[in-house]
Amino acid sequence: MINVRIWNENIHDKEERIKAHYPQGIHGALAGIFSDCENVRVTVGLLDDEDQGLSEEALADTDVLIWWGHHAHDKVTDENVSRVIRHIHGGMGFIPLHSAHHSKVFRALCGTSCNLRWRHGDRERLWVCDPHHMIARGLPDHFEIPAEEMYGEPFDIPSPDETVFIGWFSGGEAFRSGVTFHRGGRIFYFQPGHEEYPVYLNENIRKVIRNAVYWAAPCEREHRCIECINAAAPEGEKA
Ligand code: ZN
Repeated sequence: MINVRIWNENIHDKEERIKAHYPQGIHGALAGIFSDCENVRVTVGLLDDEDQGLSEEALADTDVLIWWGHHAHDKVTDENVSRVIRHIHGGMGFIPLHSAHHSKVFRALCGTSCNLRWRHGDRERLWVCDPHHMIARGLPDHFEIPAEEMYGEPFDIPSPDETVFIGWFSGGEAFRSGVTFHRGGRIFYFQPGHEEYPVYLNENIRKVIRNAVYWAAPCEREHRCIECINAAAPEGEKA
């Protein structure tokens, strides 16, 4: 069983234009990715929850933490940020999505500004750079996101351990859209997911996030093996 916790600041989600495509919020759309995964248990933490949804009890019971934030990075208390980082150092997987590049947690883990170039309203083509990577399983060699916010280089992060995806935008920019780091736990930063577009309903995007959870989940074994992956994967997605 993999315990996934989806953390969302849940601010944009209250706007009508966002509710139009995410009636259950961004966290609801993300939770739906795992609705048919028998071996994944999902919990949700929101900024407005007690302990900002980041209590010791909740994190101790989390294998992989997915994080969506944009407007309220500074509202997450330093105490909670330290607690999340301690759990990642202890082996918890961490998947910061989209504007979580500027979350306190991701910046602290990277030790850099994590600044990037951005522009509203573009079309993105996501290229798989590492087709044998577990996170790229079952994907075509590239796919398109019809509407997405442009994130472009330079992206001020340390050299990633792996670059799984590179995004190309119709405005001409390119971006390291899916990158991994090891900081005790496994970290996968994934760029798509601007709130104004229904990106998390895209089947390929959902597959990436699901794969990333299997990849980032801590494993008792010294080396992750195909048996572990298959034990966690739903029927039809076994390697
Ligand atoms: Zn955005």
